[in-house]
Amino acid sequence: MNDLTSALAAALPDGRVLTDPDVTGSYAGDRTFLPPGTPLGVVLAESRGDVVATMRWATEHRVPVVPRGAGTGLAGGATAVDGCVVLSLARMTAIRELSPQDEIAVVEPGVVTADLDRAAREHGLMYAPDPSSYEISTIGGNLATNAGGLRCVKYGVTRDSTLGLEVVLADGRVLDTGRRTMKGVTGYDLTGLFVGSEGTLGVITAATLRLRRAPGEVSTVAAEFTSLRDAAAAVSAIVAAGCQPSMLELMDRTTLRAIDEWKNIGLEPTTRAMLIAQAEGPADRMAALCGAASFVAVSSTPEEAAELIGIRRLAYQAKERLGQCLVEDVCVPRSALPEMITRIEEAAARHDVLIATVAHAGDGNVHPVFVFDRGLTEPPAAVWAAADEVFRAALDLGGTLTGEHGVGLLKKRWLDLETGPVTAELHRGIKQVFDPLNILNPGKAI
Ligand SMILES: Cc1cc2nc3c(=O)[nH]c(=O)nc-3n(C[C@H](O)[C@H](O)[C@H](O)COP(=O)(O)OP(=O)(O)OC[C@H]3O[C@@H](n4cnc5c(N)ncnc54)[C@H](O)[C@@H]3O)c2cc1C
Repeated sequence: MNDLTSALAAALPDGRVLTDPDVTGSYAGDRTFLPPGTPLGVVLAESRGDVVATMRWATEHRVPVVPRGAGTGLAGGATAVDGCVVLSLARMTAIRELSPQDEIAVVEPGVVTADLDRAAREHGLMYAPDPSSYEISTIGGNLATNAGGLRCVKYGVTRDSTLGLEVVLADGRVLDTGRRTMKGVTGYDLTGLFVGSEGTLGVITAATLRLRRAPGEVSTVAAEFTSLRDAAAAVSAIVAAGCQPSMLELMDRTTLRAIDEWKNIGLEPTTRAMLIAQAEGPADRMAALCGAASFVAVSSTPEEAAELIGIRRLAYQAKERLGQCLVEDVCVPRSALPEMITRIEEAAARHDVLIATVAHAGDGNVHPVFVFDRGLTEPPAAVWAAADEVFRAALDLGGTLTGEHGVGLLKKRWLDLETGPVTAELHRGIKQVFDPLNILNPGKAI
């Protein structure tokens, strides 16, 4: 330890600070290919007090702090910057309160997303936002990225389930935002501002979250298509018909083949896309709207449904088996989904790049995953060119650069295309109010 980290260790209970580079390195990166910087140390916070002490020390010594949940992010948000302290919240795992009567939970940031959902289910409730990573991501990371997921087509994203937050500010002050009521409009919406702020405005140390009634009977449709565009058109038809699916997920052939090679799902050679749709109640109407499908199956048992959705949740890990991945996260108005899919296919062909696409299709949120050689330290020029084309296509279609993963470091080079100078100036002004010394996750998100 040097003088700085010794001072930090002295401000915290024993065992909270790690400085051995062999150990701290494993807290420095996330799930992107982006090379992390070298941290001074890692704090394993176990309480709000630990976070307060860390931020006071960081303010006094002007040391950057990178908040971290589980490090499953796909935008470089949790990657260490040189000379920072990584502040891990993963040990703060208490569910402080779960109130079936008020349908809320008060939780610490290190709670794994699916653990909260399981705790809610014991009371006939659920925690709706369910990123595919929900067995490995934390609530703190979900809040900081405003994570989406499969059920978001019906229940909204993380912000829609967030009522209030406890936040430690850059100088160590503690702020409570929001409330535990379903409604409330006193003052500016600071809760909404912190959700999706990617660790740049404050460290979330607790959250009051909204729970929902767990659905009863659900039925699930799996439809196979010989064209990806036909599958995207079926999505638009299902949405336009007002079917209100609780999940509407799309996978392309490259993704399905990667899953098939890994898990042997019996993929038909002619299948180029699969749609998985779930409804609370009968799904016959959704099945009928998959008219162009080569095969449609409707399952009503929870086991069959879980199996189908399990296939979808394997998609990212299956693609990681093909090589390194640059994961995009564009989101377009739902009516533009077929055109977005076409533009992705054109970009892949034009630049001769392997793109495997999955989509939270009911939200218009598309993840084209650009696969490149594992031996490379960064994506080749053709991948960047294809990615650039896809981002510009999304904006051209009235969409956004990122539906749920955040800007992090990965998408900063495209940020100006979407935000423009006035928004950028206001973003910098907000950052200045909350973090005047620019020590919280510097260089990320804005
Ligand atoms: C297989 C796989 C599937 C995925 N599927 C989805 C999906 O369907 N939907 C989706 O939205 N994402 C998905 N992701 C991305 C990722 O899981 C989410 O972004 C998740 O919200 C990150 O949570 P985390 O705990 O890993 O956060 P981290 O990666 O550790 O951090 C993410 C960001 O949050 C900040 N942060 C973390 N904790 C706090 C805190 N307490 N206070 C302030 N800032 C904090 C970090 O600084 C960073 O900017 C997937 C990732 C993988 C690997």
